Amino acid sequence: MQAESRHTAANPKHVIVVGAGAVGMACALTLRREGHAVTVLDPRLPGEGASYGNAGIIANCSVDPIGMPGIVRRVPAMLMDPMGPLSIRWRYLPRMVPWLARLVVASRATRVEEISHALFSLLGNAAETWADLIRGTDGEQYIRPRGWIHTYESDAAFTAAQPVIDLRRRRGVRVEVLTPDELHQLEPAAAPIFRHAVYLPDTGFVTSPMRLVGALASAFVAAEGTLLQERVTGFNRREYGPTSVLTERGAHSADQVVIAAGAWSRPLAAMLGSRVPLDTERGYHVMLPTPERAPGHPLSSGERKFILVPMQGGIRITGGVEFAGLDAPADFTRIRRMVAHARRMVPGLGDEIQSEWLGFRPSMPDSLPVIGAAPTCPGALFAFGHGHVGLTSAASTGLIIADLVAGRTPAIDLRPFRPDRFRF
Ligand SMILES: Cc1cc2nc3c(=O)[nH]c(=O)nc-3n(C[C@H](O)[C@H](O)[C@H](O)COP(=O)(O)OP(=O)(O)OC[C@H]3O[C@@H](n4cnc5c(N)ncnc54)[C@H](O)[C@@H]3O)c2cc1C
Repeated sequence: MQAESRHTAANPKHVIVVGAGAVGMACALTLRREGHAVTVLDPRLPGEGASYGNAGIIANCSVDPIGMPGIVRRVPAMLMDPMGPLSIRWRYLPRMVPWLARLVVASRATRVEEISHALFSLLGNAAETWADLIRGTDGEQYIRPRGWIHTYESDAAFTAAQPVIDLRRRRGVRVEVLTPDELHQLEPAAAPIFRHAVYLPDTGFVTSPMRLVGALASAFVAAEGTLLQERVTGFNRREYGPTSVLTERGAHSADQVVIAAGAWSRPLAAMLGSRVPLDTERGYHVMLPTPERAPGHPLSSGERKFILVPMQGGIRITGGVEFAGLDAPADFTRIRRMVAHARRMVPGLGDEIQSEWLGFRPSMPDSLPVIGAAPTCPGALFAFGHGHVGLTSAASTGLIIADLVAGRTPAIDLRPFRPDRFRF
């Protein structure tokens, strides 16, 4: 049985959603359930973008932006460390400078506090919004509400994590500090090498992010939504908004358009009159075979900044932030080297890499997505830029977009997510 919608559209519209990632499919399914005629356009299959290979954490705790206070001091050392979690292709640096400058501005203590309030408003009830979205669909089988464990081998790494722990606590996130014994009780598969651990009990994880998005797509098609494998190339515009969406195959007329094309949204937004400082933080994963004694929780390494997650078909190691744009070839060197560290964390983990993946986080310098009407073209709605938390916030974004299409006031204050919050 499909989940019931909270609302039924008084004036059903034809809405075109551009992008079939977690965000686009959540928007499309929510809109369809409210009674709108919905068409999703994407040249790839649902969930084949960033939504394919992420760490799968429903991270309602992640109220910390990537630009925390002091980042300016830490970044040079991180960039110089060939094994560190942060890397840049130097040829891409000139393109990144304006984005990095905005990141620095967003990392001031007062701004971080504001950003974390906004993130909490979007992420705080992610578990509930996801549960509502997938109720009655195949997606229910993929979500595990088990919590997330951060591990620290050294006192230094644990001390360095304190500002994030404190920020989470200030926003009301439940954070439990565990002794080594308590860690062993909770996660016996973890090696006895950790001096500290932090447990985030209200966090969930997904055992196959790609299949979860596939389940949204199946439910959408079953509800008579239209999914077309077409790349959007432009729009026919009137003052209020796009009247039709152009693809390589032709034109599709629409009452309203939702741009949810993840890291590829910037040129589409520009065609609709909006400049947004969207770039990509590239990230990687490798899959390893599931060991006999597999962990039951996602485990993060405080030192190496990777996450090890028990997924369907293997253990996924995800990590890295690489600034190199959308076109540079993948460089798996760093993520491959994480395998040795992962094997220290979970004894019995094999080292045979089954598959590897590069994905493109759609990232804004202030770690807040762009959600709202295009300022000069209000018939177009933006839903992109979700950075490190796009899986977590997809269902909530779908609810907001459905509110905007229906003309209702969304449950959260959308001012922090405004498309025009940056000046050019
Ligand atoms: C290594 C890594 C780990 C991560 N871990 C987590 C995590 O644990 N938890 C979490 O919440 N988030 C995580 N994320 C972030 C998360 O994956 C993204 O924020 C999220 O997937 C973004 O979803 P999206 O739908 O906006 O974009 P995508 O999934 O990238 O979808 C965008 C879609 O738009 C389509 N598209 C592009 N251009 C066009 C066009 N012109 N016309 C039509 N369609 C177009 C693309 O083909 C694509 O299918 C992680 C990301 C990475 C890389």
